[in-house]
Amino acid sequence: MDRLVPVFDLDGTLLDSDDALVAPFLALGVAREDITFGHTLAHECDRLGLEVQDYLDHYDPTAAEPFAGAHELLAGLERWAVCSNKHASSGVAELARLGWEPEVALFADAFGGAGKSLAPVLDHLGLDAAQVVYVGDTDHDRRCAAAVGCRFVWAGWNPRARPVPGDEVLRRPGDLVGVLAP
Ligand SMILES: [Mg+2]
Repeated sequence: MDRLVPVFDLDGTLLDSDDALVAPFLALGVAREDITFGHTLAHECDRLGLEVQDYLDHYDPTAAEPFAGAHELLAGLERWAVCSNKHASSGVAELARLGWEPEVALFADAFGGAGKSLAPVLDHLGLDAAQVVYVGDTDHDRRCAAAVGCRFVWAGWNPRARPVPGDEVLRRPGDLVGVLAP
């Protein structure tokens, strides 16, 4: 069996981005406890009665730093991809800023407003579900993996991760290397 190819969620998985994501909502007058994670920006703005453009005008794509060990992990990977609900304009900017070059990076605009799906990522990679592992930090990510039938591991380095018994949880980004090994 070949090595598994990792597909990553971006915010909260590779990027320690909660504060950067929350800041525009706070600036627009939303209470912190009303903000949720794991949805498309359009969905969350709609739910909170905000315009996406107003959010983006307040969003700083240079504010979030990678989780410790994420950069080193990615540097050692031959193939990897990103599947994220992040708005494409900020997602592409973040990847460029960090010098990260995934083979495939699909953001919210690639999924027709329906929320992200791993199916088109697999198509772009030319792989089937048994050949990848999805790494994420929300229950929505977990369900995305289940929807295509691929393995899922939690980014357990994010304290907001809420695995359920039986889930695979990684403590550090570098621990993924052991998951990928054939
Ligand atoms: Mg996330």
